[in-house]
Amino acid sequence: SQVYLNGAFMAPQDARISPMDRGFLFADGIYEVIPAYNGVLFRFDEHLDRLERSLREVQIINPHSRAQWQALCEDLIARNNGGNISVYLQISRGMAEKRDHAFPDPPVVPTVFMMTSPIAVPAADSPDTARGYGAITRDDIRWARCDIKSVSLLPNSLLRQQAVAAGAAEAILLRDGFVTEGSASNVFIVQSGTIITPPRSHAILGGITRDLVVELCHQHGLPLEERELTETELRQADEIWITSSTKEVVPITTLNGHPVGQGQPGPVWKALAHHYVRHKRRLCGL
Ligand code: PLP
Repeated sequence: SQVYLNGAFMAPQDARISPMDRGFLFADGIYEVIPAYNGVLFRFDEHLDRLERSLREVQIINPHSRAQWQALCEDLIARNNGGNISVYLQISRGMAEKRDHAFPDPPVVPTVFMMTSPIAVPAADSPDTARGYGAITRDDIRWARCDIKSVSLLPNSLLRQQAVAAGAAEAILLRDGFVTEGSASNVFIVQSGTIITPPRSHAILGGITRDLVVELCHQHGLPLEERELTETELRQADEIWITSSTKEVVPITTLNGHPVGQGQPGPVWKALAHHYVRHKRRLCGL
């Protein structure tokens, strides 16, 4: 396999970064994960919009034009034999001369790293036979700008590890009695046939998959509300779903060990999963 680092493609074991890189010292960087199906980038413009926004919010200069990013992604996908893979793309503020919290002045060249990973077959690909997954709830211990896709993921990592230790797939996070999102996903519930997801805000990452699910609901006339969601509503939900680019739309069938609704992937999830798969296949020529 091949990765990309600062202008060159190479084997992963040949990629080297200085420990003086601010990505290493301060987690001073941002990232994206863009899925490709059949070698075709999925919702590339939406991912690049978010990348550009993250860079702007942390004042890292975007080192490439959108056309250059696309060429780099496509080149890396081809070098890794295409298929269903995700492109991980990280930009840090670059290498500092000394460890100083303030940015280097004048700015240094940002560090760009890209790699690919295979995408496992998602649950939504076979809605009628899919199994459900477990989730736990935890306090959202993260910072106040979760809308920035920062590589500073220690809280997310600690929370996901607690889920794994509990035999669950995800930790669903609560702030002041309201659901924010998962440790690496957005959250939807179904309540008496209505789909509900928290609104975009600084408290959550504006998920590309979340936005696509919202779009598909509107397109297919599934009732959807974007509004604050209480812990009680989560606990009493008929269905819970989590969304992310590589896992798509996943049914959560136990919450803190208790069954969600009937304890099986629900009918609204199945309907949405069928729409999702059709949309993906059409766009990527699968
Ligand atoms: N929320 C968090 C904290 C994430 O890390 C992710 C992605 O991994 C998501 C939500 C889902 O975003 P997307 O659908 O763009 O992958």
